[in-house]
Amino acid sequence: MKRPDQRPMHALPLLESHRGALEKCTFCPKLCRSACPVSNAEPRETLTPWGKMSLAYFSAHGDVPLDASHADPAWACTGCKACTHSCDHQNEVTSTLYAARAAIVSGGQSPAGASRVVKNFDQHAKRTRHAIAELGVNGAVRRDAETSLVLGCSYARATPREAKDAIFATSQLLGTPISLAENCCGLPLLMAGAQDAFRAQAERLQAELKNKKRLIVLDPGCAVALKVNYPKMGIALSTETEVFVELAAAHVTRLLPLDNVPDKPVRYHDPCQLGRGLGIYEAPRLVLHRLLGRAPDEFDYKREKGACSGAGGLLPSTMPEVAKQISKKRISEHEEIGGGKIVTACASSLLSFRATAQEPVEDIATWIARGLGS
Ligand code: SF4
Ligand code: SF4
Repeated sequence: MKRPDQRPMHALPLLESHRGALEKCTFCPKLCRSACPVSNAEPRETLTPWGKMSLAYFSAHGDVPLDASHADPAWACTGCKACTHSCDHQNEVTSTLYAARAAIVSGGQSPAGASRVVKNFDQHAKRTRHAIAELGVNGAVRRDAETSLVLGCSYARATPREAKDAIFATSQLLGTPISLAENCCGLPLLMAGAQDAFRAQAERLQAELKNKKRLIVLDPGCAVALKVNYPKMGIALSTETEVFVELAAAHVTRLLPLDNVPDKPVRYHDPCQLGRGLGIYEAPRLVLHRLLGRAPDEFDYKREKGACSGAGGLLPSTMPEVAKQISKKRISEHEEIGGGKIVTACASSLLSFRATAQEPVEDIATWIARGLGS
């Protein structure tokens, strides 16, 4: 390895605290290059994990101009953590690239897709609140309930049927009505590079939840925000965050095995944030095994090696065609090994697979609700 550069990161000083991670990648023989869904879909050296980290490193030192061609690759990442998993150093690429996004935004650059997310965020948050207000499920929701469910904006707005399944299932599993958190966790702002706005949004959600005794989170992206990103910023919630699918797994004997289980494969897809983000691999498999009466079918790449749907990290906003290619690749892998139904546990993956797949794609919340008599 060459000797790392000792100069200060004068051009993007916000990246100084990530120097170690940036140096590891910049002076590395790129052992992770085949792991990245983005550079696999769009084979350019600058889009490999090494390329993206090196560009951030050289930008931080002022060695390359902070223009779109050098800045935008920081957004060419779904946050899937596949590179970290295949790296000998377990180097933290996702959080470093998110920090690079914030540093680059503070330096005055941002791809159009990310700027749009920030500009439209207030409207997005308002629409999410309206969508959540429409999601009443008979007897399951009570505003002053001690337990709150954080659904996630994509579930609330784009997959309301699955959101209702999760509301019904959570209330049934706990034996009590629940309230629905109305504020977005702010993750889109973090991924866009709007660090201060992310903090402000996190504080809004923190204030909304301050009297709650129990907190369940459905979307794994929100769960990572609440369990990982909030503590890093010193934002403490009033209670520990529990993940919906783990709640279901803890009560697995309450789920009734389903009649009319399909003969065709029912294949579980590991969402990156649930798997590599939170280390949750067993709970969804336990639940599906109970409901199916057999182990769920698997992708060739599964668990820690599970392959990304292309839907994370704002990639559908910043590089929509690449995001679609990644999703199509997953669907063709599924078809090559026998097709059937895909079950995932993440609204963004659900939406991206549904846009591509010929066969049904379902969310684990729907299966859990069925097992509880929905
Ligand atoms: S993530 Fe690890 S293997 Fe990949 S370029 Fe960085 S240091 Fe090298
Ligand atoms: S986190 Fe995923 S998308 Fe991002 S650089 Fe690593 S492998 Fe590529």
